[in-house]
Amino acid sequence: MELSDIAGVLDPGDPPYRARQIYQAVYDRRVERIAQITTLPKAAREELEARLDVGWPKAAAHFDSTDGTRRYLLRLADGRTVETVLMPEESRDTICISSQVGCPVNCRFCLTALMGLERHLTAGEIVGQAVYVMREHGLDPRRSQTNIVMMGMGEPLLNLANVLKAVRLLTDEQGIGMSGRRITVSTSGIVPAMEELGRAEVRPKLAISLNASTEEQRRELMPITRKYHLRDLLDACRGYPLRPWEKLTFEYVLLKDVNDTDADARRVARMLANLRAKVNLIALNPGPGIPYGTPADERVAAFQAIVRKTVPCFVRKPRGRDIYAACGQLKRIESIASEAI
Ligand code: SAH
Ligand code: SF4
Repeated sequence: MELSDIAGVLDPGDPPYRARQIYQAVYDRRVERIAQITTLPKAAREELEARLDVGWPKAAAHFDSTDGTRRYLLRLADGRTVETVLMPEESRDTICISSQVGCPVNCRFCLTALMGLERHLTAGEIVGQAVYVMREHGLDPRRSQTNIVMMGMGEPLLNLANVLKAVRLLTDEQGIGMSGRRITVSTSGIVPAMEELGRAEVRPKLAISLNASTEEQRRELMPITRKYHLRDLLDACRGYPLRPWEKLTFEYVLLKDVNDTDADARRVARMLANLRAKVNLIALNPGPGIPYGTPADERVAAFQAIVRKTVPCFVRKPRGRDIYAACGQLKRIESIASEAI
């Protein structure tokens, strides 16, 4: 609910500050129900409680990894579930949220792809995942370092209007008050939507899942490349209106003997040489039905060493692999989850 949505359900006779009062209670104090807004007169509270449902998601289950990662299965109003992951670190917490139930993009190495798309999430459901974790763990993004990454289930740029609305709600000073610099959206390369994102007034940082070093290889691993060619994706990256402090992040999933050779690394370095960019490497998180293997640590290090000569390049530690919470492993089938713990 944006402020205007709340104002829309109020009576014309309500005082003008009422919508803001409710908005702040919901997003800044993060109440669960209108009845808990004690600053409202009792009669208004009861009357509005019947008309306005705050509707934060509820946990259907959670799974704890040995590395501290916690994966939530959150239940939405229609009974569907979505995955949200908290990755605590010493100096900061990262919340990984979903943008769709399932995903329509069929990347060959990703478990979520096997679900297909069930539906888009609303802006409220996207924000709701972050708020759920903040409430549950007492995180206050105004005081502590909390990052949000839209790298859970779904392709955020295929649900851009709701994603942008969610970002506005997360960054609104009157509400949750996060910095937009702490929110990252990751895309498989939906070129026209990248252009639209670049034009948005309030926008998160952008990460691109590159995952291949040639057009042909990317077509194989990410068939969406047949629609949005790698060449056009790189052109869109070159034309992307980065802010002065900003870099593009390229994610690269390393698949054993497929895209992890020295020649691949050299091509990646060359491809990104003239971009303000950094690369995050991640060794494949394996899963049932995924026809690829995970390269050895030494291969990952060798790949990094080559890319790093040209572009800053980091290796992302897998988090929560034992509970299927790691990248590309988010699939809501609960039997997999229970098998894994
Ligand atoms: N749909 C968006 C965001 C969600 S996927 C996107 O594709 O960018 C988040 C990240 O997980 C992507 O970078 C994707 O390449 C990566 N990923 C998918 N499957 C993976 C797997 N099995 N192991 C490691 N990373 C994976
Ligand atoms: Fe969808 Fe991203 Fe998985 Fe590809 S990697 S199937 S775009 S969630």
